Amino acid sequence: MSQTKILLDETDIPDHWYNVVADMPNPPQPPLGPDGQPIGPEALAAIFPMALIEQEVSAERWIPIPEPVREAYRLWRPSPLFRAHRLEQALGTPARIYYKYEGVSPAGSHKPNTAVAQAYYNREAGIRRLATETGAGQWGSSLALAGQMFGLEVRVYMVKVSYQQKPFRRSMMHTWGAEVLASPSDRTQAGRQILAEHPESPGSLGIAISEAVEEAASREDTNYALGSVLNHVLLHQTVIGLEAKKQFEKIDDYPDVIFAPCGGGSNFGGVAFPFFADKAAGRELRLVAVEPSSCPTLTRGHYAYDFGDSIGLTPLLKMYTLGHDFMPPGIHAGGLRYHGDSALVSQLYHEGLVEAVAVPQIATFEAGVQFARCEGIIPAPESNHAIRACIDEALRCKESGEAKTLFFNLSGHGHFDMAAYDKYFNGELEDFEYPEEAIEDALRHLPKVG
Ligand SMILES: *Cc1c(COP(=O)(O)O)cnc(C)c1O
Repeated sequence: MSQTKILLDETDIPDHWYNVVADMPNPPQPPLGPDGQPIGPEALAAIFPMALIEQEVSAERWIPIPEPVREAYRLWRPSPLFRAHRLEQALGTPARIYYKYEGVSPAGSHKPNTAVAQAYYNREAGIRRLATETGAGQWGSSLALAGQMFGLEVRVYMVKVSYQQKPFRRSMMHTWGAEVLASPSDRTQAGRQILAEHPESPGSLGIAISEAVEEAASREDTNYALGSVLNHVLLHQTVIGLEAKKQFEKIDDYPDVIFAPCGGGSNFGGVAFPFFADKAAGRELRLVAVEPSSCPTLTRGHYAYDFGDSIGLTPLLKMYTLGHDFMPPGIHAGGLRYHGDSALVSQLYHEGLVEAVAVPQIATFEAGVQFARCEGIIPAPESNHAIRACIDEALRCKESGEAKTLFFNLSGHGHFDMAAYDKYFNGELEDFEYPEEAIEDALRHLPKVG
């Protein structure tokens, strides 16, 4: 039997990030300011350090990873690539299934890959505090960890419903020294405005982003950090795909199809973009972003300029969107409930170079439980989306007899999401198709451009 864990040495941690912009057939659509004109770097300088702004607009193929960031990566990288022998057997598929496990980071997901880089560049720029938002707490806990490692104070605006339902990620943030506020809060104008209109608001990522951006823009010593969506975040996550390519080389295999859960697009971009370089060079390869059918941003959203937050404080990004005032249904994959998506992923999807599929919630938990019973690891509810899509493909291979190589990103473990698993076992989870009227309605709320 061939290897189960494909491991790399610490010296194999990439020393450059890969920038997909260099291999895209068309340059990315620029972010726009309130006047509808492309914004310059200075428009972002109030909330981001210049090094990250340069990465945001860079077209260089390779960007060096600073040594202190690689040193932080050594705590959990390179992450293992697994061959899912036991899952293959259970499915009776001729397909070979592999997964890269990002749950080995201290925070339990891929998010620290960018958090430590962002903390490093902010510290180098003389910043003392970071403000951010978090949904289910994966990003907040990752930034809390990174802030602790690089000596920055961190304040996290946590979506209120998660603040109440997910107390243990809050405890993780406290353990790593961060301050956590339930959003909407009364600390910002944005929060107070929402509370005045909807005192019982459960919060949303878009609202929490408004609060964190407002704080960062109004304090000299404070910057903002975003856990997904932006180009520099996807850039940092490419360590996942770069390592995976080395791991596949070691065993002389190569994926036919790659799956990753897609919320803001960072772990999908992170795993898929380094392989996209080969696709751009002519290699046949499918890259599939998997999203919930309750928040079907790529598969059913509009490709249009929209705000990144609820109030309209951020620049406009050309992306697939359900509308910046989207109120997500209370599904359990909190990391997949953002109204928009990465501009880079959106453009590649629009041009037919990457694919997307939406899957219903209950089927994702079925897949996650089947995976846990074969492979041991209990996946994050977000990761279950990629597992669902990968198992479906493996079952199609069983029908057709094709021995494809399938690869998915296991973006995190589910140890802090066991309440969601309990609901699944108790039959309390529901499937929710995002209604067509709401999608059409969102069109009328999109900002006017040009
Ligand atoms: C945040 C998160 C996601 C989704 O976010 P992306 O930016 O799309 O990567 C997926 N899986 C896990 C475990 C997460 O924490």
